[in-house]
Amino acid sequence: MKIRTKIALQFTVIVATILTVFSLVIYYLSENNRKQEFYLSLKDRARTTAQLLIKEKGIDKKLLKIVDKNTLSTLYAAEVMVFNDLNELAYSNYEADTVYYSPELLKKIRTEKYLESSFNDKEVVGTIYDNEFGKSFVVLAQAKDVYGKQKLANIKQTMIYGLISAIFLTIIFGFIFAGQSLKPISRINHEVSKITAYNLTKKLSTGNNKDEIAQLARNFNEMLSRIEKSFELQKSFVSNASHELRTPLAAIKSEIQVALENDRSTEEYKSTLHSLYIDNQRLIQLTNGLLQLAKSEKTNENVQMVPLRIDEILFEVQDELTHQQSNYQIMIDFDDIPDDDNWVTVSGNKPLLKTVFNNLIENACKYSDNKTAEVKIKFNKRNCLISVADTGIGIPKEEIERIFEPFYRTKNAATFKGHGIGLSICKRIADMHKGRIVVKSELHSGSVFSVIIPHL
Ligand code: ADP
Repeated sequence: MKIRTKIALQFTVIVATILTVFSLVIYYLSENNRKQEFYLSLKDRARTTAQLLIKEKGIDKKLLKIVDKNTLSTLYAAEVMVFNDLNELAYSNYEADTVYYSPELLKKIRTEKYLESSFNDKEVVGTIYDNEFGKSFVVLAQAKDVYGKQKLANIKQTMIYGLISAIFLTIIFGFIFAGQSLKPISRINHEVSKITAYNLTKKLSTGNNKDEIAQLARNFNEMLSRIEKSFELQKSFVSNASHELRTPLAAIKSEIQVALENDRSTEEYKSTLHSLYIDNQRLIQLTNGLLQLAKSEKTNENVQMVPLRIDEILFEVQDELTHQQSNYQIMIDFDDIPDDDNWVTVSGNKPLLKTVFNNLIENACKYSDNKTAEVKIKFNKRNCLISVADTGIGIPKEEIERIFEPFYRTKNAATFKGHGIGLSICKRIADMHKGRIVVKSELHSGSVFSVIIPHL
């Protein structure tokens, strides 16, 4: 069901319910009023008859009947009966067998002194009068309230017609009103349907800039900007990756071309194969890096996290790196051993954490003349802090923000080998471990990369 129809129907149901309750209350009050007024008239009539018959002596019953018939004209078909203390009919303005009464009713009137009731479609009032000898008479007056009921029927009919017309009008106005209110949403719908992957720069108009619809459009525009940015990142990632892959591939191609131009000695072929091997190694390293970057894009769901001692990971990385690069000096400072093992234990993924420290320590050695990295492990109540410091080339202030972007390399690092993807991998892995990496660096003096990661 369309929202417009839904709103119009809900609106109609609410208005119809209010009007129905209102009409029922009015009807109930009118019916009550009618009854009260009619009972009052009957009570008056009963009192007049009793006055004349019981209290005024010497009134002829026949004469009273004539008076009754003439004065009761306002109470249609009214019947007035008087019963003596033995419950015998002492007077009736109608034939006794045509009127209704029962001993129980008379008994009830005698105990309650006054009674208002209705049976069939007649209203009855019963009351008690004592004569001078202390005998109590029951006076019953009953009649149909034809005029009152007719008036009530008229009110009911008017209300039903009014209710039907009001519901009908509410449906029409509800539809118009809902259509009017939903117009901005229809507009947004229309505008959104025109946005594709090729025109993400297009933005939705924010209308009056004040209401919820404007807020929705603003949020949507912000989301579009984020999508656009991630599209751009994706595009630049692909072009950067292709560029990085092309360089060693082009080198391999020209090396093979040069080797094939003339006949070569075994030594020359060996040397060409060796340099091809090195280029191939670079390619493998690069594709591994790209693969890791793609893996680190995934959420934590697929990554198994287990308790790991940070110091053990660091010693393993130190061991592996010094085996690969014998000129690297890696010092690990772990003097402040905590009493509680949990303080140096983190919930993490071993290969991923090793990648982080491998990258940071390798960078520290790579970008410094003395090829030395100084690693320190510290901790507090919450976190483990692992800092990797060097006394190398440092990072220019204006570029420090960008070094975690994929493929970004600082200008002063151009002469060093690298692809600029290591740190972006480190940052993502730190995020996955609910940690972060902070950098402090001084150009030409050195850098400190600190990994802060929550321990158990
Ligand atoms: P790569 O080292 O392969 O270029 P990284 O992502 O590891 O890629 O580093 C990105 C850039 O950050 C490097 O190119 C370099 O400019 C800068 N950088 C990283 N570590 C250091 C460091 N220890 N000293 C100076 N510059 C660094």
